[in-house]
Amino acid sequence: MSEISHIIPGWVMEGTAEATPVYNPATGEQTGRLVAGGEAEVQAAVAAALDAFPAWSATPPMKRARIMFRYKQLLEENADRIARVISAEHGKTHPDALGEVQRGLEVVEFACGIPHLLKGEYSRDVGPAIDTFAGREALGVVAGITPFNFPVMVPLWMFPMALACGNCFILKPSERDPSASNLIVQLAHEAGVPEGALTVVHGGKTVVDALLAHPDIAAISFVGSTPIAQYVYATGAAHGKRVQALGGAKNHMVILPDADLDQAADALMGAGYGSAGERCMAVSVAVPVGEETADKLVEKLAPRVRALKIGPSTDPDAEMGPLITRQHLEKVTDYIEAGLREKAELVVDGRGFSLQGYENGFFLGGTLFDRVSPDMTIYKEEIFGPVLSVVRAASYEEAVTLINRNPFGNGTALFTRDGDAARDFVSRIKIGMVGVNVPIPVPVAFHSFGGWKNSAFGSHGIYGPEGVHFYTRLKTVTSRWPTGIRAGAAFNFPTM
Ligand code: NAD
Repeated sequence: MSEISHIIPGWVMEGTAEATPVYNPATGEQTGRLVAGGEAEVQAAVAAALDAFPAWSATPPMKRARIMFRYKQLLEENADRIARVISAEHGKTHPDALGEVQRGLEVVEFACGIPHLLKGEYSRDVGPAIDTFAGREALGVVAGITPFNFPVMVPLWMFPMALACGNCFILKPSERDPSASNLIVQLAHEAGVPEGALTVVHGGKTVVDALLAHPDIAAISFVGSTPIAQYVYATGAAHGKRVQALGGAKNHMVILPDADLDQAADALMGAGYGSAGERCMAVSVAVPVGEETADKLVEKLAPRVRALKIGPSTDPDAEMGPLITRQHLEKVTDYIEAGLREKAELVVDGRGFSLQGYENGFFLGGTLFDRVSPDMTIYKEEIFGPVLSVVRAASYEEAVTLINRNPFGNGTALFTRDGDAARDFVSRIKIGMVGVNVPIPVPVAFHSFGGWKNSAFGSHGIYGPEGVHFYTRLKTVTSRWPTGIRAGAAFNFPTM
């Protein structure tokens, strides 16, 4: 059994630390013990970061970028190994884990261009012999709190950007699959990031609260469920911090009658059941427009859901793995029961799925509900499992209203061949990330990721240009050279 511990320079474990179990979700076996930290570990990480900050922030951006180039190379060389560590604790299939590493790595590639992104603005002669320049500076020590579903990609959305901008970063990964986060931090150190500039403190609420309250932490990036995002946003802001807090989701995909229904059904399979539905950009609600479209779509989906290949990440044919914990499996199963109680039509029932040799794994079969209505629990709440709900809309207008009324606003998609409808949808829909014939519209690294409404709190998206803004603050300098011009004392507000 592995012992997974903090990464803080000079930190030594005193006595027997409190530990939480880490499981292999495919077998149900405990594979690790995660040492849980508290205020002392946060204090040690902040002290190391404060020590490292003067030199790291003064390092020329080009030198920091060269470290990012080395880091990118190390991530590429180790992609397979990282993906295996992800899958061993998360359960996602190997190709899916490789995809996660790749999307995180792309943010590192973006961070390699940081000298260009930190370039300021300069205006000559804003007054007599007066020039103005504005540039962005690092905030200081910043922290990131990340969810279980992307133990590599989400930390990589944060720390390469923060570090390349000159900050020091403390990572608090999910306690459910912490090993992959440790591995990518070790690789960053190997690439040349100073040890104090990037640390990891493990644990749960105690560590999060200590980070939120610490006076020397300037900003917090959070990705996780909506209630905790709201809490982190409110508490961090109350302590005077800059906070970006990304929350949960309920992503709808609208299928118009003119759409290619085979293409739409395939897209729904990947977006609904990939990673066992444990993605914040998973499509959990399909909204076919018109009864005929709905009937045909369900007819195409049902056999595909029944045929899903479910298995451990070591099975090269597996399309979907287990859920993260037994507790989560029970929670998703409860949602299926709630759907039945509230009279949704259960077309494919994933309960009771069992895999020979993996009977203790946290597996659930793909589940499909039809005739789900907006007042049902399975529509209102984020299930975060392989459960797709079909909500039939009588018209395109009804579909748009449904989505705009939903309190979440992470992602959405429209499948159609009608350009007018697509253009209208894009402009009227109140959602942060929109796909047109693209089911999971996660923006590439040189754009920024972020939802609306209850899916994100704070004013900046994560990574891309918004990430640079989040991890830096503006300084504007107005200077007069030569100083020999005597203007005399001026008591009015200065103008040209
Ligand atoms: P979670 O909210 O349970 O945990 C996220 C982080 O918060 C973890 O590091 C955890 O240790 C910490 N935490 C948990 N409870 C806490 C508490 N009471 N006080 C302080 N900190 C606490 O989320 P999860 O289950 O790990 O991840 C799944 C959720 O994350 C889903 O809701 C999913 O939609 C969301 N998510 C959102 C995005 C996005 O970009 N919007 C991306 C990935 C995941």
